Amino acid sequence: MPSKDSNKKSALSVQKGVEQVNQLDENAVSKFKDAKKKDIPADQFLKEILFGNITFLGRAITLIESSKNEHRIKAQEIINKCMPYSGNSVRIGFTGVPGVGKSTFIEALGMNLINKGKKVAVLAIDPSSERSGGSILGDKTRMEQLSASKNAFIRPSPSAGSLGGVARKTAETIILCEAAGFDTIFVETVGVGQSEIAVHSMVDFFLLLMLAGAGDELQGIKRGIMEMADIIVINKAEGDNIHKANRAKAEYQNALHLFPPAESGWVPKVLTASALTGVGIEDVWKIITDYIEYTQNSNFFTKKRNEQSKFRMYEMINEEIKNRFYDNKDTKLNLKELEKKLLKGEISPYFAANMLLK
Ligand code: GDP
Repeated sequence: MPSKDSNKKSALSVQKGVEQVNQLDENAVSKFKDAKKKDIPADQFLKEILFGNITFLGRAITLIESSKNEHRIKAQEIINKCMPYSGNSVRIGFTGVPGVGKSTFIEALGMNLINKGKKVAVLAIDPSSERSGGSILGDKTRMEQLSASKNAFIRPSPSAGSLGGVARKTAETIILCEAAGFDTIFVETVGVGQSEIAVHSMVDFFLLLMLAGAGDELQGIKRGIMEMADIIVINKAEGDNIHKANRAKAEYQNALHLFPPAESGWVPKVLTASALTGVGIEDVWKIITDYIEYTQNSNFFTKKRNEQSKFRMYEMINEEIKNRFYDNKDTKLNLKELEKKLLKGEISPYFAANMLLK
């Protein structure tokens, strides 16, 4: 476990006017500058990460996200060294359409947990973030209290590449965060596409935020996403909205009964909450801890994590095979030519594919 002092070195937790803390932060900054200049050995990364040094954690994540091969090799070395120190956390996925209150909810639950003595890392998967010119998720300004807490670490979505690539980077970032002592990992995504499946493949528990009276169509939530949820939380359940929220709760409970039972044996719960007032947040946490206990007792927890690791390995193999194929100079040379012949009707798609694969 990192010492308290190590947390003060965090570049995220500068406290103005406290001389001692500034001194420590300067140390972190100079270490960071050194790290930029020199090629820091993976062992030093490991040592600093295990010490809870947020600056080094951030830098290692930057290596994971880099498109440079040498950076990726270094990142893999660091990840491998961190592996024995990872895994000791609860990984929770959050989804829901923009505006449903994800960041407000994460802030409320995150602060609740920090007050319980936990350390919370907030990561995000948003493959669209590159196109929209900056990540809409994990934005520190959206989670002011968490950003200011030395026991929280917020990292926006990696922006470049395919969903598979973005997901891999986030899954690897989880390992580093756990090695750095974060015992609660939040992974956030928007509830509009394939990214839920990616998040689901790397978390223990999946939380779907909904609004009362908006209708499933309007909320863009597909049945498949509801089926993945271990809990559905109807947010903004306060004031005049409480009645509607309770009605929605009953409706979702009924709908969930129609789904086939989950492999874990867990029956998904539906709760109402208000991220704004904090009502219901504690109840949600209670359900999450119940779920963890339930799945740990049945061994499903470990089984699911093992399956997730295996899934990622095969996904990585598939991605690499594909990259090597398209990067191959013979492929590049012949692809266009065969495509032309295909379009002229001279050869069949099967023949063209076979020629290239050979
Ligand atoms: P996100 O896009 O899903 O991350 O949603 P945000 O957390 O940014 O919230 C969108 C808007 O809903 C903001 O104006 C929040 O203040 C508001 N909001 C979030 N949670 C609640 C809630 O429980 N009650 C009410 N009334 N407003 C909320």
